[in-house]
Amino acid sequence: MSNLSDTGNGDRLLAAIARDASSGCWLWGGTISNSGYGRMMVRQASGNKMESAHRASYAAFVARIPDGASIRQSCGNRLCVNPEHLEIIDQECERKHQRDFGRSESVSS
Ligand SMILES: [Zn+2]
Repeated sequence: MSNLSDTGNGDRLLAAIARDASSGCWLWGGTISNSGYGRMMVRQASGNKMESAHRASYAAFVARIPDGASIRQSCGNRLCVNPEHLEIIDQECERKHQRDFGRSESVSS
């Protein structure tokens, strides 16, 4: 797994995580937003910007995120930034996911 870009975002992201051996999750250890997601400053060609840590991870290790698309954790852990646990979804699914998620914290998939 290597960076798709030379921004250093991936390296800085890896410096802020703790790997959970049992779940395989990469637990974000940096700033956390009110909504419970990790936040990190990402470097872009257009300048620095605060971004969700899991989105930054996806962009750094998987692929560029299309405009309007969302990223969610398949493991259900909002602090997880393991690219293998991240999946891209469209906004419509995201709304449904968040509704469903509010009711049930335990997801086994
Ligand atoms: Zn995970």
